[in-house]
Amino acid sequence: MLVFILNAGSSSLKYQLMNPINKEVLALGICERIGIDGVLTHQFKEDGKIKKEISMPTHKEAIELVLKTLTEGEGAVISSINEIEAIGHRAVHGGEKFSASTMVTPTVIEEMRKLIPLAPLHNPANIMGMEICQDLMPGVPNVAVFDTAFHQTMPDYAYMYPLPYEQYTKHGIRKYGFHGTSHFFVSNEAQGMLDKKHNTRIIVCHLGNGSSVSAVLNGKCIDTSMGLTPVQGLMMGTRAGDVGAGAISYMMTQEGLSIDETLDIMNKKSGILGISGKSSDLREVLEGMQNGDDKCRLAVEMVAYNIKKYVGAYVAALDGIDALCFTGGIGENSALIREIVCAGLDGMGLIIDPTKNNKRSSKAKDIATNSSAARIFVIPTNEEYVIANDTYKIVSAL
Ligand code: ADP
Repeated sequence: MLVFILNAGSSSLKYQLMNPINKEVLALGICERIGIDGVLTHQFKEDGKIKKEISMPTHKEAIELVLKTLTEGEGAVISSINEIEAIGHRAVHGGEKFSASTMVTPTVIEEMRKLIPLAPLHNPANIMGMEICQDLMPGVPNVAVFDTAFHQTMPDYAYMYPLPYEQYTKHGIRKYGFHGTSHFFVSNEAQGMLDKKHNTRIIVCHLGNGSSVSAVLNGKCIDTSMGLTPVQGLMMGTRAGDVGAGAISYMMTQEGLSIDETLDIMNKKSGILGISGKSSDLREVLEGMQNGDDKCRLAVEMVAYNIKKYVGAYVAALDGIDALCFTGGIGENSALIREIVCAGLDGMGLIIDPTKNNKRSSKAKDIATNSSAARIFVIPTNEEYVIANDTYKIVSAL
């Protein structure tokens, strides 16, 4: 079965064409600057790559271009779009309605629309992607795979905010968590890598431009660091993460900021970028630190310290730990961040092996010493596979 995987953002659109049975990726790419001008980057076969600058006024033209590129010309990997048997959509906010992936129906789209206030940038783009695919490929089933679904198993005492209870009943204000497909994939892989098969206590650190940590007990999420929206939790590329409400309201008063301006600062100008003043990209900030830039040093130390605090908290939430997992661009590639996070955690049963930590590999690896009571895994995430596989399972059962 060939599944077309779509991740529609507000001005970008990532796609893959995958066979979920053998995990073969036929092509992948991204349309960027939709509604501005338009750039398509398309990768196919072993190392085929094309980049086209082409007008994409809306997501419709972008998806049409992707389908054309998949079927015609140099980058073609299939002869007709009829070879696409199902479409899997990354959907960001599923609220409390969706605790698993689901077929896209008018009711599902309606429910996603109701959740737009919780994800004003993401859900409208996701819905648009679904409707355009229904239009362009009539009869092909569409499946929605929610970023929030994996976290729906959190107990109430973990997901509730200590605000007046009616804020939850009236407005659904609670923690939802994000990156669920990655937390599911990585914790599931880790479970397979552990000798122990019961009462597994796993912590996943998904560290990319957006970052979050989750605590997973026996395959079920019991806590996660992001909240009602992705701005909560770890310090990220441009997002602030946890900041006291008092500090935020004081900044608003002092600077005369509106709510939108404040959210813009907290989502787009804070985190690694805000502290370093240099970049949101950790690689550039690590380079700055090596060149003696003290704000870059501070940003790196803050990032690692924040992760370490969540690890400690989640070891407590899980009553112990069997595996700590690192994933995402930073988690998979930065030996330094992993080293700082794990330093001094011997008392929690986590001892990192410096040689194993520094050895580069694109495969999942265990970087704990043999004597470490718990394992420390580096596991490349594969969110697209989760989307393709869920889509395949749902469509096969029709
Ligand atoms: P996204 O959340 O957008 O999917 P990624 O998971 O690709 O992002 O992660 C991007 C982050 O990973 C950037 O901060 C980048 O600097 C960092 N990164 C990638 N490679 C390395 C590396 N070798 N060392 C340190 N950081 C890295």
